[in-house]
Amino acid sequence: MSEGPSYSADKRLPVDAFCSVVSKIRQAKPTQIRGAMLKAVMRPGAKCWLCGQPAVMAEPVIPERAGGAVVIQNMVPVCAACRRERGARDALEWAEEKRRRLSVAQLQYRDEALAFASQHPVLKKYTRSMEVCREHLSQTRWTHARVPVVFALGSADVFVACAVPASAYSVALLLSARQAGGEVLTDGVMRLPVDTWESWAREWIEHHAVFNRVRVPGDAPGDPEWSKVYGGIAATRAAKAA
Ligand SMILES: [Zn+2]
Repeated sequence: MSEGPSYSADKRLPVDAFCSVVSKIRQAKPTQIRGAMLKAVMRPGAKCWLCGQPAVMAEPVIPERAGGAVVIQNMVPVCAACRRERGARDALEWAEEKRRRLSVAQLQYRDEALAFASQHPVLKKYTRSMEVCREHLSQTRWTHARVPVVFALGSADVFVACAVPASAYSVALLLSARQAGGEVLTDGVMRLPVDTWESWAREWIEHHAVFNRVRVPGDAPGDPEWSKVYGGIAATRAAKAA
């Protein structure tokens, strides 16, 4: 028997559960979030994503100072030698310097991470934008600010909230969500109709928003669901790489 609220008969998302996730995310310190993610990535027997030797720690695929996001999709297990050699460089940059080629699996890791980087991140389904994103990254050298947005997608509605409370971004999000036919619920949380939300989100992506999907209830640092969900992602990746 599942605890917590369930989806109502008309498939509307449970607003209380979403608000509680948002508040956990807003209160979490970056180090807490990072800690939970690193733990999920560094499973026993994890192999280095670059050379396949036993990994000693997890690190970002796209380095943070290079615009990499603090999300699980940007974390990989790595061995000490590769970590030292690559330093804070993007793996692609590093490979080009070394006149090496990244494998298809390694490029896939990077593509996935790139979708969450702070410059022109794209929702995963819009993979056509990936080339544009990569080109942009290579030209701008990672200078844009990032607008963290969390959303929960139901079949009848979408909840959206800025992960940074009471910022200029959250005010702008509220105003634009209203224009897109959305309503403001509480504490900077907006509900949008599913049919207008995508075009609204695309517009925000153009303004350097990073959309992170959450499940409700659960799926926040400190919630037991957190490591389960992201542990699953890490396991899927490991199986793919093997
Ligand atoms: Zn290695």
